[in-house]
Amino acid sequence: MLATFNNPMQVLANSSILIDLHTHSLSSGHGSTDTVNDMAKAAACAGVKILGISEHGPATAGSAKPSYFRSLKLANRHRFGVQLLFGAEVNIITPAGALDLDDNVLSGLDYALVSIHPPTLNPYEHQDLTNAYINAMEHPNIRFLGHIDDARFPVDFERLLSIAKEKGVYPEINNGSLMPDAYRKGGQENCRKILEICKRINLPVLLSSDSHGAKNIGNIEYVLPLLKECDFPEHLVINNQPDLLWKILEKL
Ligand SMILES: [Zn+2]
Ligand SMILES: [Zn+2]
Repeated sequence: MLATFNNPMQVLANSSILIDLHTHSLSSGHGSTDTVNDMAKAAACAGVKILGISEHGPATAGSAKPSYFRSLKLANRHRFGVQLLFGAEVNIITPAGALDLDDNVLSGLDYALVSIHPPTLNPYEHQDLTNAYINAMEHPNIRFLGHIDDARFPVDFERLLSIAKEKGVYPEINNGSLMPDAYRKGGQENCRKILEICKRINLPVLLSSDSHGAKNIGNIEYVLPLLKECDFPEHLVINNQPDLLWKILEKL
């Protein structure tokens, strides 16, 4: 059964989210020993009702293999009062936008974010990676653009976001990019630009904790001030609108 909520659109008023789709368990191979069960328990404590587990694609050292992603359809989707979705944070592994999971694996998942990470695509060899993201969006089940704010992988935000809108793909605003000790660069400035464009072109955004393990599930503490600063409209925030999320996942 799909979760629905009364009076959902209150991310800013409540400083909390009901949906967190960018999280990593121990199966991502780094940064945590927390299982999916641990993550679901933490989500329940944080008030997150729909938790997406998005392990890194296989190109990330130590992360899950395609067989793991294939087996997720057998996993229990309701734990501790939390509805679980199983996705992936796939890597773009070439400047042309090739991904590290095949379409037949992606199509068995609830969703996928597409991201670029330094170990799987050297940022210093490439300039504008807008086309890499645009090509990656052609693959089935890509629904979200992961941390496109990373200044080490520059993109043309105007062009990328207008094409994302046409394709039914949505950018995330990643709390990890905005943390004071963030290892990605340019998060504040670039997330502000992304929010301003999305507000202007009416494109919803996904707020993400990018929690590695259970600790930061539902944590958007560094996103909230930016939303306020940009006077970003609640109706363009996906996280407390399950009905909008189901439409996005089904590409309605
Ligand atoms: Zn990432
Ligand atoms: Zn991530």
